[in-house]
Amino acid sequence: MNCVEMNLDALAANLSHDELLAQLKGVSWCGGCSDCLYAFILAAQHLSSEELLDVFGANLLDKAELMTAFDEMVGFKRVLHPNMVRMVRVNKIMPQIKAKFADSALMKHYVNESLKQYESDLFEDYFNMSMT
Ligand SMILES: [Zn+2]
Repeated sequence: MNCVEMNLDALAANLSHDELLAQLKGVSWCGGCSDCLYAFILAAQHLSSEELLDVFGANLLDKAELMTAFDEMVGFKRVLHPNMVRMVRVNKIMPQIKAKFADSALMKHYVNESLKQYESDLFEDYFNMSMT
């Protein structure tokens, strides 16, 4: 099975660490698509850095070429049909794995963008308040 055929939305729901590792190891991950990136982020909550490297062959959160796919997944970049399940899950997981991937390109990008988002929300709140 390859990364595109895998039903990722069923993955990591109620699996133990060993079950998850076994399932992930049964898939051949290309390492360069949004499905791989999503699986990597899901797995990152449960597996060690060594296990992740073993399964995916690389730290996918350090691949700058996945930034567009990442932006679409977390909602920084608008798409016509966003996958809401993925968006909610990834936005929940990213803060939880922040320390583990503090030096990774996509984590730094996520932190910066979230901060910008937060600041513009604050500004909007302030603006709305002053209008009422
Ligand atoms: Zn892939």
